[in-house]
Amino acid sequence: MYPSRFRYEAPRSLNEAIGLLADGGDEAKVLAGGQSLVPLMKLRFASPELIVDINNVPGLAYHQADADGTLRIGALCRHSDLEHSELLRSTQPTMAAAAPLIADPIVRNRGTLVGSLCHADPQGDWASVVLSLGGSVVAQGPRGRRTISMTEFVTGPFENLLEPDEIAVEAVIPPAQGTRSGGYLKLERRVGDFATVGVAVSIETAGERVTKAGIALTGVGGSTIAATEAAAALIGRPLTEESINAAAELAAQAARPRTDHRGSAEYKRHMVSTFVKRILSGANHGRASSGDGGGTERAA
Ligand SMILES: Cc1cc2nc3c(=O)[nH]c(=O)nc-3n(C[C@H](O)[C@H](O)[C@H](O)COP(=O)(O)OP(=O)(O)OC[C@H]3O[C@@H](n4cnc5c(N)ncnc54)[C@H](O)[C@@H]3O)c2cc1C
Repeated sequence: MYPSRFRYEAPRSLNEAIGLLADGGDEAKVLAGGQSLVPLMKLRFASPELIVDINNVPGLAYHQADADGTLRIGALCRHSDLEHSELLRSTQPTMAAAAPLIADPIVRNRGTLVGSLCHADPQGDWASVVLSLGGSVVAQGPRGRRTISMTEFVTGPFENLLEPDEIAVEAVIPPAQGTRSGGYLKLERRVGDFATVGVAVSIETAGERVTKAGIALTGVGGSTIAATEAAAALIGRPLTEESINAAAELAAQAARPRTDHRGSAEYKRHMVSTFVKRILSGANHGRASSGDGGGTERAA
């Protein structure tokens, strides 16, 4: 199917892009990687009158760490940039584990992390990862810049807090205070599929003690779920079988899965618990590592 008729603009600066969005109002849409927007337009689930393609805007295709370790991911940083990033491999185990599990290589070459956060698909993997890390989104519009915590950014399925004239210019991951470890595990029916169940876990340790923890769930509710009670169960003590089991149980309770052709709600809840245990059991406190907690399971 072809999309409805639309006007296409490809501005060469951020200010020009914001001006076009301000003129277009509710009928305008930003185009980043196009991997979610274009299919929606072709199916006519979305029919914007104006497309503002930001791919010619310079200076947005970065991911870099500030001197204090804050990680910034620009609006045109592709999934594949993150998949092959040495910076992520050495400092961001949860992100490094998730990057190769997004879709397939073709989608990863075009799609962006920031676009994925904006799209707010309950089955999008990056929202859970960024949520588990306490990240945020920086929006820029005619009134200037503002930082929106990931806990507030997604307001529902396919909805976010951006005003129609704002562009999400970057995602920000705060620096680790202790040693960061964690992972992302995803249950998918076949390679490149969206998550039936996804679990992101990020922890920080000082010595043996967990000082910070985030657990977030993909695909098991109306939107991405922050399993805050599960994360809290880990803080202030070393990782033990008891604390891991408690966190896994609380994470399963936080999930709101539905029975469908991919599996029963009970099965999905069980997978949440299994993934939390698996990631935390593999987390090398004292060493940031992505190899321990990343991977997929395939279900029939
Ligand atoms: C076959 C297929 C399989 C996929 N599998 C997965 C998967 O397993 N896991 C997963 O997480 N995702 C998956 N995706 C989605 C993919 O990751 C998309 O790339 C991503 O969700 C959206 O990023 P994008 O840059 O392509 O955004 P676009 O498609 O360009 O935009 C998506 C939405 O976000 C808005 N937007 C984008 N960027 C900005 C911005 N900077 N500021 C304001 N608004 C913005 C757009 O207006 C639009 O509403 C899949 C997609 C396909 C086609």
